[in-house]
Amino acid sequence: EQSQGGVGLARIRKLRTAEAKAFRAARPKSEAAFGKGIAGFFGGVPMHWMNDWPTPFPIMVERARGATILDIDGIRLDDFCLGDTGSMFGHSPPPVARAIRRQADRGLTYMLPDEDTLVLGRLLSERFGLPEWQIATTATDANRFALRVARAVTGRPKILVFNGCYHGSVDETMVRLVDGKPVNRPGLAGEFRDLTRATQVVEFNDIPALEKALAGKDVACVIAEPVLTNSCMVLPDAGFHDALRRLTRKAGTLLLIDETHTISTGPGGYTRRYGLDPDLFVLGKPVAGGVPASVWGMSADLARRFRAYHKAKEPGYSGMGTTLSANPLQFAAMRATLEEVMTEANYDHMERLAKRLEAGLCAAIARHRLPWHVARVGARVEFICAEGPLRNGGEAEAAHAPALEAAIHVALVNRGVLIAPFHNMMLVSPATTARQVDCLVRAFGEVAGSLAA
Ligand code: PMP
Repeated sequence: EQSQGGVGLARIRKLRTAEAKAFRAARPKSEAAFGKGIAGFFGGVPMHWMNDWPTPFPIMVERARGATILDIDGIRLDDFCLGDTGSMFGHSPPPVARAIRRQADRGLTYMLPDEDTLVLGRLLSERFGLPEWQIATTATDANRFALRVARAVTGRPKILVFNGCYHGSVDETMVRLVDGKPVNRPGLAGEFRDLTRATQVVEFNDIPALEKALAGKDVACVIAEPVLTNSCMVLPDAGFHDALRRLTRKAGTLLLIDETHTISTGPGGYTRRYGLDPDLFVLGKPVAGGVPASVWGMSADLARRFRAYHKAKEPGYSGMGTTLSANPLQFAAMRATLEEVMTEANYDHMERLAKRLEAGLCAAIARHRLPWHVARVGARVEFICAEGPLRNGGEAEAAHAPALEAAIHVALVNRGVLIAPFHNMMLVSPATTARQVDCLVRAFGEVAGSLAA
């Protein structure tokens, strides 16, 4: 392989080396603090993927506010990563910070409801259109519990995922197509099961394959993002969601829509904007403004079926729930987020600036005649170093240009902007300004220019 994304490997290497050097030179304090890794942590970091950022060492944060991160060397970054969605509404949105301060005086966890829950049940139902909800702590857990319900009520063993999906570290979703064959996702640590026995996998946008996979009527649930966001960004074809709903209904299979990323679309997510009609709905990450929390909701019909199942089943542990789930800090932060942060006005701002970002990136790509493209879902924008649009996870996998992307990421950091690691995702928050968007566009144009030269 001599090139990635239309750029020669030698040029990519040269950029990466120069940018790594500049990153280091600007951060003596961070480098000294980080050393060869932070003592006491396996791999030198408290979470292993902090080592996967393309910078020579992780950015050592002093504080973050709105859409800005300040590192301990005093360098300010315009933050378009926003905790990979956890801070999609900005770092410490003021209403959420106030709610956290208030709740800090009232107890942080007690396994009991409080008056915020009286409001929250109504807010969730009105906002997302499903009538019955539960609260968990991560989107991973919400997906796990929702899938358990799906299996319980249908009595079916299997689930179906789209190739290239990510729904959190839900073991049973970790199946991929490799050379057209379903296999355990490469790289899983300690997985001892053949996950393909209970998980079917087809390509996104492939309606005939979906129909065939559901025909055996042994699939309890299809779990899907409205847009495949974890494989670059793959938009649904016109009619895909209608077909997905029609075929799942026909097969007696439930449909779980995971809105954790596509909540970038609007206050009610992609589901409300495009009138999807899921049986199960999951949202995590930003739903409490950065406080760990997730929600999962059931349609009226599914809730009724699950109640009947519950009544009939043997008494005992359901396999659902974690101790810190549905705690009052989550209630307070989630209420503030839904009432005061996830507003139409904030989303208007996010979408307007995301369009400006999209246009700016597209113009830079065209100006430098690079074979790249840009995709957007509401406030979420991604540049992809390959021709587009992509139609499925297989194409997205082939579109990845890891060395090129890493070099670009470090070059952007050196120009004052942070985007999500591992892929090229940028989020616009209510706190993001037009100036910040323009800085990103300028930085991207400069980097693209140096690669195309
Ligand atoms: N669903 C989707 C669509 C995600 O992208 C992710 C995480 N990237 C998750 C669920 C899991 O979220 P968490 O890691 O917070 O459990």
